Parts: sequence; structure tokens; C-alpha cells
Amino acid sequence: MNGFFDEYGGKYVAEVLRRPLDELEVAFNEAMKDTSFLEELDIIRRDYIGRETPLYFAPTATRLLGGAQIYIKLEGLANTGAHKINNAIGQCLLAKRMGKKRIIAETGAGQHGLATAAACAKLGLDCTVYMGEVDVRRQQPNVAAMELYGATVHPVTSGSRTLKDAVNEAMRDWAANPDTTHYVLGSALGPAPYPDMVREFQSVIGREVEKQCRDRNIQIGAMVACVGGGSNSIGFFEPFINKKEPRLIGAEAGGIGPDVGQNASRMTGNASRDGILQGYKSRFLLDADGQALPTRSISAGLDYCGIGPQLAALGKSGRVEFTSVLDKEALEAVRFFAKNEGILFALESAHAGAAAMKIAKEIPSDKAVIINMSGRGDKDVFITSPVFRREQWLSFLHTEIERLESQKDIHEAL
Ligand SMILES: *Cc1c(COP(=O)(O)O)cnc(C)c1O
Repeated sequence: MNGFFDEYGGKYVAEVLRRPLDELEVAFNEAMKDTSFLEELDIIRRDYIGRETPLYFAPTATRLLGGAQIYIKLEGLANTGAHKINNAIGQCLLAKRMGKKRIIAETGAGQHGLATAAACAKLGLDCTVYMGEVDVRRQQPNVAAMELYGATVHPVTSGSRTLKDAVNEAMRDWAANPDTTHYVLGSALGPAPYPDMVREFQSVIGREVEKQCRDRNIQIGAMVACVGGGSNSIGFFEPFINKKEPRLIGAEAGGIGPDVGQNASRMTGNASRDGILQGYKSRFLLDADGQALPTRSISAGLDYCGIGPQLAALGKSGRVEFTSVLDKEALEAVRFFAKNEGILFALESAHAGAAAMKIAKEIPSDKAVIINMSGRGDKDVFITSPVFRREQWLSFLHTEIERLESQKDIHEAL
């Protein structure tokens, strides 16, 4: 474990960040051997996150798709609604063990900020979340939740005022305050040791799947997960990476098409290049000058120009297959699993659902395809409603504005 995965990974950072990263690596390796740390983490996973999460057999989807048995790992039932809490709790508990009282995090859509804010509230840590000003405006429900959890949301006004700039700002803060502060990075990327550390905290998903399948005698043919930065997928795949089977499949955001700016397909897209950005070497969507290209996806969580270095290496070696799923295919998967199984996928996770729908027939009926439902779809009502029921949604929003304006006095009195 030298921080590299074949040629990808590494620790390409300014001198000021080397010491905090090295200290973090030592502290993490120590904590993972400390049984009292691991016991405390297990109890929080059980009682606060709600683990283990169910492995659900989807009978109607299995019948309709024909072929493999369809199973869904219901990671979206975790407290706060997605897998991100696994990493946030792990890193915050580690920060506490290191004697840090202050946590910072970056967030794009707000999901990682929300998970970190909740973890800090639970563990009694001070929390500041860096978020691009554009994202603050677009993602008010998550900003509201972070503030309820007691976090300070700090709008970032540099650059494109989105996720990439929030990461830069968080790194700057950490470089200035390394002794008091831990930076909770939200996916399995960034400089070493983050890719290893985030994978370890998320591998609880894969270890549960392995045990659930062993206990129930389920033969796995393929495992499918969506890939933003790559934390839910690498944690889900982890126990199986060094084996020949099952097939491991990562679903990237195909957005609205193959052209530059229309998707976030870092492994399968035609603007995919090797590069070094934000502290690590990996596959990115870059222009000819090595500048990050704009990305697009209906799912805010898959909308990032880079992918974790371990997944980049596993894609190159062929152990993980990558496929790209269009916005409209993800929406169709949301509808399919909601109607046929009573399960509402997050738009991100629906990319995995859609990829599984495409390959189910390739796999014999005595084997399972396991979909990681990384999050539940309640959070997406502002995105799915304008697509599924545009007129009613517009009318609802108009009525809401009128209602709120007429009730100003009541709200002020509360
Ligand atoms: C953030 C997010 C993702 C993408 O992040 P990964 O690091 O690739 O897992 C996927 N699903 C949900 C529900 C998310 O919130």
C-alpha cells in the first residue's frame, strides 16, 4: 500500500499538505488495528446508521427482465439516505481519535456535506462544509438539512463556484489549520491515503453482501454499482476485487449524449484522459491543455470530472467493466423499480439499476445480479417531478409561493 494502484493514485500535493496527509495515514493504519476503535465503529454502524442493510430479492424485476435473479442491496436505507454516512462516520470517529475537534468537508450536490454534518452532530464535532455558491443556490434542501445538523455552510465564490472549487477551498483551509482540523473527503479519490481509507470505510457494504450471499446460498453472477468518484462501487466490490468472479460492473453518467459537456463518462467517454488533478493521478475528462471539462448528468452525485484511482486501474486491467447510462435510461429505471418492486432509487443508483436491466439476460437464472442501491430517491423529487409530471409540479410550486407569502406573519411568530 504505497498510495498507487498501478500507475494511478499518488499524493501530488503542495508541501504544506504532506505532513497532515502522512499523519492521517499513520493514524488510520493504527486505528484499523485498534479493536476498541473497531468495536465503537461497529456499534455506531448498527445503532446509528442502521446496519446491516437488507439484501432484497426482487421477484417481479427478475420475472420481467428474464435471466439472472435480481437482488438489490438497500444501502439507501442507511440513516441520512445513502452510503455516504459510512465514510463520514468512519473519518469523523478517526478524527476524534486523533484529537481533532474541527471537521471540514467539501460538497457538490450536498449529499456528502449532509452526511458529514450528521456525523459531526452525532459525535459532537464542529463542522464547516465548503460548497460552491452555485450549488448552495441549487441545493437548498440539503443546505437546510446541514444547518439543522448544526454545520456552517461556507459558500465558495472562486472559479466555477461548484464542487471542484469547494475541494480547493477545503484543501486551503486544511493546509492552514492541520493541527486542529480533519478534512473529510467524500469519495474514494484525492491524494493518498484517502482512496484506501474511503474504500475501507465503505467496504462494509461488500462484506455484508458477501456474508448475506453465503448465508442464503446465493451464487453471484455480477455486481453492479454507479460510479461518481467511486466510493459506493469500490466498497461494494472490495471483497471480490482479487477474485476472478463475479463480474464487476460500474455505471457512469452518460448524460444526454456522447459529446463533450453532455456526460460524465470518465472511463467510457471520448474526452477521457490520464491526468493529475486535485492531488492524484487518474482518468479525467480534460481538454487538450489538461483543463477539467464541464460535465453533465441528471444525477448530481455522478457529475464529477474525475474517478477514483483504484477504479481507473481496475478499468484498465479489465477487472471492472464500465458502461455508460443515459439520463433517460436512469429515469426509466427509477420508474421500473418503483412500480414493480416498491423501491424508489436515487437517480445516481438508478444508473446501476439501468445497467443491471441491460445485462440481466446475459446471466443464467441460477445466478444473481446484485445492484447496489447507493441511495434512496426521496431527495430527487425536485428533479424527477418536473420530468414525470411537469404541469402539476409547476402548479404546486406557484401555489406554494403564494401560500408562503400570505403566511409571512405566522412564520415570523414561530
Ligand atoms: C454521492 C453519491 C453517489 C456517487 O458517489 P460515489 O463516491 O461514486 O459513490 C452515488 N449515489 C448516491 C446516492 C450519492 O449520494
